[in-house]
Amino acid sequence: MKHYDYLIVGSGLYGATFAHELLKAGKSVLIVEKRDHIAGNIYTKKVDNIDVHIYGAHIFHTSDEEVWNYVNDLVKFNGFINSPLAYYKGEYYHMPFNMNTFHEMWGVNTPEEAKAIIEAQVKAENITNPKNLEEQALSLVGRDIYEKLVKGYTEKQWGRRATELPAFIIKRLPLRFEYNNNYFNDTYQGIPIGGYTLLIQRMIEGADLRLNCDYLKNKAELDSIADKIVYTGPIDEYFDYKFGPLEYRSLRFEIEKHNKEYYQKNCVINYNEYEIPWTRIIEHKYFEDDKSPVTIITKEYPDNYELGKERYYAINDEKNNSLYLKYKEEANKLNNVIFGGRLANYKYFDMDDTVRKALDDVRKELGE
Ligand code: FAD
Ligand code: UDP
Repeated sequence: MKHYDYLIVGSGLYGATFAHELLKAGKSVLIVEKRDHIAGNIYTKKVDNIDVHIYGAHIFHTSDEEVWNYVNDLVKFNGFINSPLAYYKGEYYHMPFNMNTFHEMWGVNTPEEAKAIIEAQVKAENITNPKNLEEQALSLVGRDIYEKLVKGYTEKQWGRRATELPAFIIKRLPLRFEYNNNYFNDTYQGIPIGGYTLLIQRMIEGADLRLNCDYLKNKAELDSIADKIVYTGPIDEYFDYKFGPLEYRSLRFEIEKHNKEYYQKNCVINYNEYEIPWTRIIEHKYFEDDKSPVTIITKEYPDNYELGKERYYAINDEKNNSLYLKYKEEANKLNNVIFGGRLANYKYFDMDDTVRKALDDVRKELGE
């Protein structure tokens, strides 16, 4: 049987970036992937000439110039800008919170008018030291925006009351006093033309690949055919859950095809009422301006996590973080295994962070 310098467990963005650098350095690489396709959660698939983001909307955004050039050298990116709309009780509001939102909410036209309303509402709450997400939001944007655009979305997304959630979740949302619907503050943004799967294919060109292969079910054999292992799967599963399973928030995606050219007027529409069970609907053809007589949408439903379901969002509370640290301590004892990516680090990473981390790790590994 062929022997490899490296075995990479998982063909997601972390594993693929790591593999690409190893291959460029002349190393032999075997990638094993337990799913029946490559690319992990950024997998896109052409259906009716539309690139469908199977695991939810993925928009690449970064201020890291090296990362942006790195991915653009492999596949060209278009100029897609994410500007979601929020739907609440029959009305649409622009996101993120900006002058368009404030105009739609209160009919105001100038930053001074919007600031005056927000300041008055924030003052009325009289919160000096926000202890949870609700208090954090009220002390940032006031009662109207909180009730209409934050509370319902957040409580269904996380399956908990906003008063029981950590404040940091909401700090990610920008607040702008200008007419600017760009959801992200980064310098660069776009979607790979031809889909994320093409990006991953190009990254792993030259590696051997086994799909439908669960490393942990074939560990002895796979360990014996490679000098070193890069593991991008869940860290608790690697250690057979010996300290107990880490908790996640899961999602359920319902993909629908509609026999009309467009289903909705915007790529991403958030549903901010608690009573509507999905958090957002995305219409895939907008990402790359795909032409098709039909259209494909995904309804995204938050879901409770239990072992066996897909892991989406790590629950980085104190209990889970300290459990993770116990696993990390075990991982540090293994000299020939590198743990990388969102599942092995038990942390949410945007795609640019994932590429950055993989580049840093592989360079260290190669002694560069
Ligand atoms: P993964 O993509 O999960 O790859 C890990 C791979 O390992 C998987 O393919 C898995 O099947 C495989 N694997 C696991 N265990 C084994 C095993 N035992 N044997 C073999 N294979 C195994 N980021 C952005 O920058 N912009 C966005 O708009 C954005 N949107 C997102 C939307 C959602 C709903 C979510 C959840 C995330 C989003 N992200 C976004 C983050 C993005 O998905 C991650 O940065 C990226 O997927 C991380 O890649 P990874 O390789 O670490 O993990
Ligand atoms: N959020 C909200 N209303 C929205 C969109 C987001 O209250 O319309 C909150 C929600 O708590 C969410 C957090 O902001 O978990 C981060 O949102 P983001 O869009 O960055 O995360 P995503 O849901 O895409 O992972």
